[in-house]
Amino acid sequence: MTSNIDSQNPLMGQMMYQPLMISSILVHAKNQHGNTEIVSRRTEGDIHRYTYADCELRARKVAQAISKLGLKPGERVGTIAWNGYRHLELYYGISGSGLVCHTINPRLFEEQISYIINHAQDRAIFFDITFLSIVRKIYNECPSVKHWICMIDADKLPESNSPKILCYENLLDEENGNFEWPNFDENTASALCYTSGTTGKPKGVLYSHRSTLLHTYASALPDSLNIASVDTVMPVVPMFHVNAWGIPYSCPITGAKIVFPGEKLDGASLYELLESEGVTMSAGVPTVWLGLLEYIRSQKLKFTTFNKAIVGGSVCPPAMMNDFNALGVKITHAWGMTELSPLGTAASLKASDLKKSEAQKKLILQKQGRSIYGIEMKIIDANGETLPRDGKSYGDLLVKGHWVISNYYRSDLSPLDKGWFPTGDVATIDQDGNMQITDRSKDVIKSGGEWISSIEIESIASAFPDISICACISIPHPKWGERPLLIVVKKLSVTKKDDLLKKEILSFFDGKMPKWSIPDDVVFIDQMPLTATGKLYKMKIRELFNGYQFKSNHS
Ligand code: ADP
Repeated sequence: MTSNIDSQNPLMGQMMYQPLMISSILVHAKNQHGNTEIVSRRTEGDIHRYTYADCELRARKVAQAISKLGLKPGERVGTIAWNGYRHLELYYGISGSGLVCHTINPRLFEEQISYIINHAQDRAIFFDITFLSIVRKIYNECPSVKHWICMIDADKLPESNSPKILCYENLLDEENGNFEWPNFDENTASALCYTSGTTGKPKGVLYSHRSTLLHTYASALPDSLNIASVDTVMPVVPMFHVNAWGIPYSCPITGAKIVFPGEKLDGASLYELLESEGVTMSAGVPTVWLGLLEYIRSQKLKFTTFNKAIVGGSVCPPAMMNDFNALGVKITHAWGMTELSPLGTAASLKASDLKKSEAQKKLILQKQGRSIYGIEMKIIDANGETLPRDGKSYGDLLVKGHWVISNYYRSDLSPLDKGWFPTGDVATIDQDGNMQITDRSKDVIKSGGEWISSIEIESIASAFPDISICACISIPHPKWGERPLLIVVKKLSVTKKDDLLKKEILSFFDGKMPKWSIPDDVVFIDQMPLTATGKLYKMKIRELFNGYQFKSNHS
């Protein structure tokens, strides 16, 4: 099709151009919500509170301090830190002055951490005192790092000559904040985050100012995270992995108060902050909510203000959704990836859904949801043909959009397939655009030519009252190729004999899924292997059950 637009002489719009700069987010928060609080539980043990105006000033001091350390635009600066106000200052101080804020996941193995630092060629690392032991183990392996800076009050700084450790607070005290945020090309790199590397070497995803700003606009929308200035938001999802789902950016653009939980993520500590700070919404992966729900149940507590939770990173079990709903908390199920900054979809009801039955509405909200504006998605079959949006056909999920990766950092191989990013997830999409993940492509169980969804099995089993957490993997089978095995960690209070419990769990599936897709067996373990981001570590779980054989083979 030819266009009528004269490409030599187009009529251009006559609007201002301003590059989309991350610093502008915090400047907006200072100007419009200067007195709104940012509250942090610190590694020092106390609660710290200040305002967006204070934060913006200190972020400017960060920009001055890193320049004084000799760090230059484009260079990577690492952080190994909890969710807290100093980490937020680094997000803005580093990116805002043209350097790249490289957030590092401390839950990775030490070899992976030093691999990542070396791959990124980080020039400085800012870390919380909790991670001093990691720093001591890796600093010799990381020659590119010229400065190790501990984020703690000066009087608590540990003595150390190897490596020599600088104090964050001392660095900031030397600056006056007399710094103007620079404007530069909005496609400049702003932040770097490595994938967990559960199936190979971690890969770097390099975000830009533009991609981050567009993600921030879209992720705050009502049918996305739905953040408003009246909200008090507690991101439990860590700032060291995919920018805490963009919340450090979406709160300041909306003016929401932020509550950072620091290192204490157990049920009691989270509950205390939710109540004492009047938190209205929070966000995290399902495993962090298990502890909170267990605590609420055992102590027979209620929430006073908390009414909205974003759950993503792995599938939100329907039982968890019901438990939260019963406590007055509405769940938004969201899907994303490091490669997507991370938000791709969020579940919400459309006007046409409102007249549906409660059960139908629940089914919609249990899906991963519709793509937010800026992300396109499609599912394809093995031949690359696009599959219909009928809610039944399932295939490989591909996405494209303004905040989707085009290349991994320092890699020449494009991950794209004809301009689309293959997510590695298998999904359905219905007529209304609601996407549902059926599995990671490497986790689906192929039994007798049919595909069984390990996620569906886990979701059903999670509703069984005696199960704390469970995982389903495929086991090779002489007749069917593969069959599902369910691995279960029991709740602590359970005293039933394993055999009885196994029978009860297996019959719990009756009527909930076709007979041939019910697991062949249930095995109990004491602790579930989880990844550095709190997801089921399927590779490790498969390793644990390598060579496992079913006692009675399903026939
Ligand atoms: P990694 O663990 O490799 O760092 P990410 O944190 O980027 O990866 O995780 C991305 C993957 O997590 C997705 O491809 C998908 O498999 C899974 N995921 C994320 N959100 C959901 C969800 N709501 N339901 C099911 N799976 C999800």
